[in-house]
Amino acid sequence: MTALHYQNPFQLLVAVILSAQCTDARVNLVTPELFARYSTPQALASAKRRDLERIIKSCGFFRMKTRNLIGASSMLVERYRGQVPSTIDELLELPGVGRKTANVILAVVFGQAAIAVDTHVFRVANRLRLARATTSAKMELALQRVIPQAQWSHAHHWLIYHGRQVCHARKPACPQCVLLDLCPSAKYFL
Ligand code: SF4
Repeated sequence: MTALHYQNPFQLLVAVILSAQCTDARVNLVTPELFARYSTPQALASAKRRDLERIIKSCGFFRMKTRNLIGASSMLVERYRGQVPSTIDELLELPGVGRKTANVILAVVFGQAAIAVDTHVFRVANRLRLARATTSAKMELALQRVIPQAQWSHAHHWLIYHGRQVCHARKPACPQCVLLDLCPSAKYFL
């Protein structure tokens, strides 16, 4: 379901927050030390900013991510007895959690139908005209209208995989793409 390494919902939340503007592989290099030092929301909420910044620095935007990790952990402790909440509205109130992160948590942790729209999902869906939208929030709603609900979480992964492996941002591999005959955008790249 996700390439991020985690063993519980709290760890997945931390890993997804770290993955903003960063690869999953890079996050997976950082989280072993992070999880070993801060194994609970309580521990991370009281982390020293400098220590945390040092550990996560290679993930980029480390000052903002440090603020978000401490803030989100504090909120988990204060509002949810250290548990990750299970509704999108509650998740969106956590610092560092946008719709993409919230939807990943809902799908992976709670098994709910959700379409997390990241840069790959957004690009591939637009190119294929599966749905047209100008923002990821609008794309999420547009995809929900055209994909059966039972397939939402799967579709998220199919689109990401296709974007990473074939429909690259700068130079999509249209001649090798199995969707070539169906894709209205192929003519722009061939
Ligand atoms: Fe992307 Fe090209 Fe395939 Fe269309 S044909 S989905 S633009 S790789």
